[in-house]
Amino acid sequence: METKIALITGASRGIGAAIAMALGSSGLKIYGTATTNDGVELISSYLKQNGIEGKGMLLDVADYESISNLEFMMASLSDRPSVLINNAGITRDNLLIRMSLNDWTDVFAANLHGVQRLSKIFLRNMIKRRWGRIINISSVVGSIGNPGQTNYSASKAGLEGFSRSLAVEVASRNITVNVISPGFINTDMTEKIPLDSRDAMKKRIPLERFGTPEEVAEVVVFLASEQANYITGENIHVNGGMYMS
Ligand code: NAP
Repeated sequence: METKIALITGASRGIGAAIAMALGSSGLKIYGTATTNDGVELISSYLKQNGIEGKGMLLDVADYESISNLEFMMASLSDRPSVLINNAGITRDNLLIRMSLNDWTDVFAANLHGVQRLSKIFLRNMIKRRWGRIINISSVVGSIGNPGQTNYSASKAGLEGFSRSLAVEVASRNITVNVISPGFINTDMTEKIPLDSRDAMKKRIPLERFGTPEEVAEVVVFLASEQANYITGENIHVNGGMYMS
C-alpha cells in the first residue's frame, strides 16, 4: 500500500509534536511545520531519531506568502499530503474591554485564516485522489466560552463552523473534515497560566487533571485512519469531562 503523507502545522512542540509522532509511528510520512529554522531542525531530528520518514518545514500560518512558499516546497518535493492537520494556534488573552485590535486580528490570522488557505491548497490533491482527511484542532472554549478569551473562543467557534461546511462540500469526494476540541492539555500554552488559576481549572474537570498531548494525538490517529471512514463534520471533545460539567 502507498505510504500516506501528513502535513501537521505547529509540530515543533506540544500537541502538534505528539500528533507528528503518533501519525509517524502509525506509518505515515510526516511533514511538520515550525515558525523558526531551529524548530524545523528539531522536527527533522525527532522524526529521524524515532525512525519516522519525513522532515520539518518552515511555515507561519498567519502569513499568506509563507503558505505559498510551503506550497511551492511541497510541490518541488512531489509530496502531496492527503492528511492535513491544522494544529497551529495561539492565544492573546485579555478582557475584551482591554483587548487591542492586534490581539484580535493576530489570533484570527493564526487560528482561522491560515486554516482556510491551507485547506484550499491541499484539498486539490485530495479531490483528485478521491481520499483525504482534514482534522482541525479547536478547543473546548470554542463551545463553552471563557472570560479573557473572546478572540480565541470566537476563532475556534469559527473553525468549527468552517469545518462543518467544508465537510459537506467535499464529502462526495470521500474526504472527511473533523474537529477535535481539547480541554486543558499540559503544553507551553497552558504553562503560561498562573499556578493558582490552573488549580482552579482542575476543579472544573471531572477527571481532576489536565490531559496530555498524546491523549489528543491518539484521537487524531483514529480520525485519520480507515476506521473513521464514516465520520465527518464531527467535533470530538477530549477534555476529561470538562464540557459537561
Ligand atoms: P503550543 O505548545 O503553544 O505550540 C504551538 C505550536 O503552534 C508550535 O508548534 C508553534 O510553532 C505553532 N505556531 C504558533 N504560531 C504559529 C504560526 N503563526 N504559524 C505556524 N505555526 C505556529 O500549543 P499547544 O498547546 O500544543 O496547542 C496546539 C493547538 O491545540 C492549538 O491550536 C491550540 O489552540 C489547541 N488547544 C490547546 C489546548 C491546551 O490546553 N494546550 C487546549 C485546547 C486547544 P513555534 O514553535 O515555531 O512557535
